[in-house]
Amino acid sequence: MNGRVDDSFTAVIGLEVHVQLQTRSKIFCACELDPHAAPNTRVCPVCLGQPGTLPVLNRQAVRLALRLALACGCEIAPLSSFARKNYFYPDLPKGYQITQYAFPLARGGALEVDTPGGTRRFPLERMHLEEDAARLVHEGKGPVRIDFNRCGTPLVEVVGAPALHTPEEAAAYLRALRRLVRWLGVSDGNMEEGSLRCDANVSVAPTLADRPGRRVELKNLNSISGVRAALHHEIARQTEVLRRGGRVEFETRSFDAAAGVTRPMRSKEEASDYRYFPEPDLPVVELSPSELEDIGALLPELPLDLHRRLVRQWGISAEEAEVLVEERALAEYFQAVVAEGIDPPLAAHWVVGEVLHLRKERGGSMESFPVEPRRIAGLLRMLERREISTAAAKKVLVHMAATADEASSLVRRMGLQLLDDEGELEHLVDAVLLENEGLVEKYRKGKGGLAGYFVGQVMQASGGRADPQRVEAMVRRRLDEGGRQ
Ligand code: ADP
Ligand code: MG
Ligand code: ZN
Repeated sequence: MNGRVDDSFTAVIGLEVHVQLQTRSKIFCACELDPHAAPNTRVCPVCLGQPGTLPVLNRQAVRLALRLALACGCEIAPLSSFARKNYFYPDLPKGYQITQYAFPLARGGALEVDTPGGTRRFPLERMHLEEDAARLVHEGKGPVRIDFNRCGTPLVEVVGAPALHTPEEAAAYLRALRRLVRWLGVSDGNMEEGSLRCDANVSVAPTLADRPGRRVELKNLNSISGVRAALHHEIARQTEVLRRGGRVEFETRSFDAAAGVTRPMRSKEEASDYRYFPEPDLPVVELSPSELEDIGALLPELPLDLHRRLVRQWGISAEEAEVLVEERALAEYFQAVVAEGIDPPLAAHWVVGEVLHLRKERGGSMESFPVEPRRIAGLLRMLERREISTAAAKKVLVHMAATADEASSLVRRMGLQLLDDEGELEHLVDAVLLENEGLVEKYRKGKGGLAGYFVGQVMQASGGRADPQRVEAMVRRRLDEGGRQ
């Protein structure tokens, strides 16, 4: 499905994403943030909303939110402030949420997203800081319990402009945002665990109408595929309502992932329902130009910029570059290998292939990967100098992961130096052809594909030490000579 549901209707989507910031403590008190702590063990009078307590803003939360805002090219407000959003719910002990309303931290900017049609910049409306509410724990039919550990967790809300048109664009936007917050060290970006929570606003209107339709807000979307499925369903539902001449209600609907449908939750609140007013207990957030400059100076090269550089400057394939920029630690590992003097495409090939494969087998993060860039560079250098074959290098890498040894000493100890003695190679080729007389016959009768089989046999006989290209040339030469005799 594309934005045009059919030719006569077009969908408009805007996402509101809450990103949990990776600070040590909560946004307005000193309680530790620990998603694995036992329920209600990370609480204090401030985050429990007891009267007479005063919030104090965690500057690290501001710095992390600014990292994201600067990376998206937002306009940062030199002065921003907090407000109280008043409503009653059991997860909100104070009876109001402290959030930024009239004066958010940042406005504008855009999220750069790679789409099948090329890189696109989806505009943002604003980014603001706020506190999270407690977590309601529903266990079967028992009573609902409340874990206040999450209360006061710092969030930055990223409000996207209504500029997306398809569920697929929305999914790509979320993937890009998740990668960016992880890349910047702003959040772990884990949607299933709620560190990234998305509400999707969607409206459908006749394609020729000059105004968008009435929007519906979708909640309970806890995975990217959930967002996509919910939007598909909701766009189809709204289209059907309009086609029958009906009216779409301005409401909040909840996505039931199991049933794959959205259901009405409540009619949408208007801002006035929340009786927003300035938070009297917190001073205005002031940002000096030098503070902003410092944060900007610490920003790493962004994933899409790095991707472009890897492809254009270093000649790496777009697909391999895509894998490398998915994770900052991986991109850094790769760049460290190149810094050792290894040809970038060769390094990319090995990092995306063997290194990732080995890491997956072993589990664990890139930081704890046992073969340091310097050591794998030693191995790749032997490969570049044609001192070992690719097959042998793969074997050596596995041993390097299990030991602290250098490639060169392992190669020597394992006897894996490239077999390049012409006589020895010829001997292996002859032996394989002699053993396979029947197949040689078939080859000569036109089954050219069998050459690959002979090469494989010779490679195996050499213990993976021969250069397969050279072996192939020798095999073909020998077979074709024979044919002419
Ligand atoms: P609220 O908190 O009431 O949801 P916000 O201003 O915080 O309001 O969020 C508005 C969100 O709705 C933005 O992400 C915006 O892109 C989106 N939006 C606004 N108008 C439309 C529309 N007509 N169709 C789809 N999304 C819309
Ligand atoms: Mg909303
Ligand atoms: Zn606290």
